[in-house]
Amino acid sequence: MLTDQQALRYSSNLLIDSIGEPGQQRLLDSQVLIIGLGGLGTPASQYLASSGVGQLTLMDHDNVSLSNLQRQTLYGSADIGSLKVTQAAQRLSEINPDVDITTLSQAASEDTLRDHIGTSDIVVDCTDNRDTRYLINRYCYWLNKPLISGAARGFNGQVLALKPSADHGCYQCLYPASVKEPLNCTNAGIAAPVVGIIGAMQALLAIQYLTLHEMPWGRLKSFDGLIHRWQKAELPKSTTCPICGGEHANNR
Ligand SMILES: [Zn+2]
Repeated sequence: MLTDQQALRYSSNLLIDSIGEPGQQRLLDSQVLIIGLGGLGTPASQYLASSGVGQLTLMDHDNVSLSNLQRQTLYGSADIGSLKVTQAAQRLSEINPDVDITTLSQAASEDTLRDHIGTSDIVVDCTDNRDTRYLINRYCYWLNKPLISGAARGFNGQVLALKPSADHGCYQCLYPASVKEPLNCTNAGIAAPVVGIIGAMQALLAIQYLTLHEMPWGRLKSFDGLIHRWQKAELPKSTTCPICGGEHANNR
């Protein structure tokens, strides 16, 4: 049962027929793990907090730097040198004090992922390098947790919703180890609104899942920020994928 304050705060969600009070209650009862609090993680966490996701876990080991401020919208000049998760938690609490926020100022590792993916309803991967994405993908598959993966570079971005129990491919099917590292904004430029669009899409997909809407599982959506067009492609399971590929998969 929502309080009067919650009914007001979330009134725009409640007015959507397919969310309503049951959907809002599901958001309030949900736990989301956001890994990476940079250009993707800041808009994603902002929308998830303001929409009323009850528990957010923020994982990032990095400090705020001057070059982050072009696109990482939760931080300001006074935050330079501070831990991203600490500053992000403070801003998100100001936006919505209802949200229970856990901060983990550590890099994604096997131990931290095993512990925190296991207790989350859904994982939002906002990291910026392939090794970490592989690790998150692997643990989501092992622990059977849905994963929303995003990436952006230049004027291009992409987003992908993965459900380990479904028959589509995984992140490692999309980018096998033999393929050059995909979109990564740390070693190339990024147009700030593009990474904001992709981060907002990641939040939308997580909210869509948590409120029981139909999901585009295994469908890669790519955004061209210069002609403003989305393209969709199905991601098939690779039979040689070490994570999800049938008899070759290293399931445990
Ligand atoms: Zn795979």
